[in-house]
Amino acid sequence: MDAECLFCRIAAGTVPSTQVHADDRVIAFRDIAPAAPVHVLLIPRRHVASAADLGDDDGALLGHLFAVANEVAGREGIAESGFRIVTNVGPDSGYTVPHLHFHLLGGRRMSWPPG
Ligand code: 5GP
Ligand code: ZN
Repeated sequence: MDAECLFCRIAAGTVPSTQVHADDRVIAFRDIAPAAPVHVLLIPRRHVASAADLGDDDGALLGHLFAVANEVAGREGIAESGFRIVTNVGPDSGYTVPHLHFHLLGGRRMSWPPG
């Protein structure tokens, strides 16, 4: 827990969020500024700054994050229509919150490549 970190505070419940999943390792909540009809953020409770800090030892956590993403996608009704899972790293990506988060986006047609 990093007391200065917004997403650590959301995970701790000291900053409110609209949660769609919570367990001992991962929480998922709705993005405050949704970029698609479904826009959920999935984060580990443990403070990890970004995907650049992940390594071989994080396989179980990542598998669980994706299992939760798939479960949420099913509940949100986008499992069949499709969705995008994305994580930003560093300034060129547009990264704004330095706590690892996966965006789960769906419910509309998306373009590729991203802007
Ligand atoms: P990034 O740009 O770092 O990849 O994504 C950060 C995301 O967090 C953005 O999509 C932004 O809208 C979202 N966000 C920022 N502050 C808050 C907040 O206080 N609550 C919620 N639910 N989402 C937030
Ligand atoms: Zn954090």
